[in-house]
Parts: sequence; C-alpha cells; structure tokens
Amino acid sequence: MTILKTRREILRLLAGFRRFHRKFYLKGKPSFLRLSERGQSPKTLIIACSDSRVDPAILSSANPGELFVIRNVANLVPPFESGSGFHGVSAAIEFAVVNLKVQNVVILGHRQCGGIRSLFQPDALQANGFVAQWMSIAQEAYRSVKVRFPDASMDLQCRECEKESIRASMQNLMTFPFVKEAKLNRGLSILGLYFDLELGQLLELDDEWKDFRQIILS
Ligand SMILES: [Zn+2]
Repeated sequence: MTILKTRREILRLLAGFRRFHRKFYLKGKPSFLRLSERGQSPKTLIIACSDSRVDPAILSSANPGELFVIRNVANLVPPFESGSGFHGVSAAIEFAVVNLKVQNVVILGHRQCGGIRSLFQPDALQANGFVAQWMSIAQEAYRSVKVRFPDASMDLQCRECEKESIRASMQNLMTFPFVKEAKLNRGLSILGLYFDLELGQLLELDDEWKDFRQIILS
C-alpha cells in the first residue's frame, strides 16, 4: 500500500518534470540552455523553512536562476563560528554573498512553523536530537516572547516567536564578517519577510527591524 502510494507520488513528480522540460527546454523563455551557457547570477538569497508549504520560488513565481535558496528547519541563521565543522548554512551564505555577490538576503519566516512550535513543546522532539540542537539558535527569541507575552495563548506566542526568530537570524547574519563587509561596502540589503499562510498575507519587517507590516497587494 505504502510502496504503491510512493510510486504514484513519484510518477506524479515525473509528469511534473515533463511539463517543466516542455516549458524551459522546448519552448521556454528564459531557457535553461541560456542559463547553462552563462551560469547563474541570482540577485537574491532567500533563507526559508523546509516546510513543504513555503517554497520561495513558488511563493514569488520566480524563474529558474532568479533565487539562490537555503532551506532549513525554521529558516534559521546560526551565529558565525570559525573553525572546523560542517557548517552547511554558513557555507551557502558565504557562497551567495562572496562568490555570487547577491544584492539582497531575505529571511522568510512563516505561520504554523513546526520548528518554532517545537520550542514550546520540547517533549515532542527526540531528546538530544538534531532538531532540538538546531532550534537552540532560536532559544533567545523564545525566551523574549515568553517574557513579553506571558499570558498569551501558545498559538499567539508561536506567532510572535516566528517573527522574533526572523529578527534573530538577521542579527546573526550580521555576525558574519563578509556579510557585514558587503552591507557596508556594496549596499547588501537584509530583509525580513513573514508569510502568514492562514491568511494568505505577506508581511515585511520595517527598516528598524522592529515591526512587521502587511504588504498591501495592488
Ligand atoms: Zn517552518
């Protein structure tokens, strides 16, 4: 039953690849042939959650080659750490900022983030597992929300923590020397966005990194 279901899912993905191929290789613009000849030169790095509902390319209707994307649990940026280790997120940030010289870095958070919720329900996680360790990056955001909204429902606290962790990731980004340097010397912009998937709204963090405001669609 499960194998059959999985196969059906894979077949559906293959049918999707057929449509993609037709669009971008047979009659498409921009075509992948051009992208393969010239290489990639995306202008924007988006750091988004691995959540299956929050695909930055789908949300922004981006074309191939437009976005350099990092996805991880709860769209977090760890603080800069020197030395050895397998720093996948940091490596991708370095490549985007130093090698590709992107002009924008966007942290894209979202409503109903399971990673953020796990901070409020730690028992749901495997003890000492990878997720718990990873989510410790957002511990400070969690504590701050608990102090500021002590009597709020867990749902509201989660919502606030989803936003607060975007700010924390933006601040962590600034601990990377090459990010700081790119911001000062070539005007790299760092933006925070929040996708409320319940309401279908996109919110942006203001220039002071204080409040989120809904982006009004025209
Ligand atoms: Zn998430």
